[in-house]
Amino acid sequence: MTSGMGKFLLVALVAMSCAFTFLAANGAPLACGTPLVRVDTEDRTLHARICEIVASALPMLDGCHLKLTKPVTITFSDNLENAHGSCFGLFHPDRKQVELLTPRAFAQAHDKSESWHAIPLAEHFDAIALHEFVHALVDQTAVVERSCTADEEYIAYAMQIESLSDATRSRLLKAVDASPPIAMEEINPLLLGFAPPSFAVKSWLHFSEPGNGCDFVQKLMRGDVTLWLYPE
Ligand SMILES: [Zn+2]
Repeated sequence: MTSGMGKFLLVALVAMSCAFTFLAANGAPLACGTPLVRVDTEDRTLHARICEIVASALPMLDGCHLKLTKPVTITFSDNLENAHGSCFGLFHPDRKQVELLTPRAFAQAHDKSESWHAIPLAEHFDAIALHEFVHALVDQTAVVERSCTADEEYIAYAMQIESLSDATRSRLLKAVDASPPIAMEEINPLLLGFAPPSFAVKSWLHFSEPGNGCDFVQKLMRGDVTLWLYPE
């Protein structure tokens, strides 16, 4: 879940280029060159763009214990909301489906959002597509039922910020008051609810510290650690 437009609401909970694409006559989601991934749009440019994002990110994700083993479909909508407000993107675990704003709707939402302006529009769209795809992989990979959304968002945001260009990431880091070292307690569900950009940057900073990285991601997916405020 990528919430963050307008007010921050309490959400204590969200490589190679495609060989080729083709249009399905029956309107079914179109396959990417990457096995198991389908993108439901008749816009060939958009289809190729999403397939490329997935293909480019897969080696990094695979190296971080995030394996693509089951089908994922990526769809688009002009309006995305969940119980907590407007979203840039969503992952529906029940349908194994990523839902993204259409580029036009995304541009409008991006313009309205003050908090993510450090990221240029096109790069932001691509990063959100990756963020939601990461949720799909966590859903396929995690061995424990995930009851703490902050755990999952840490992984999605760490990969999202990692995917940004160095220049954009630097701008975002300047825009958010955070500097390492980041204590685990700082990255909690309350911060996620009230200040998603801060949660995102702190997650990436924590992820980037020696000894954390993909090992920490694996621990979150195994349930060995949690960002829940009151672990039992
Ligand atoms: Zn999310």
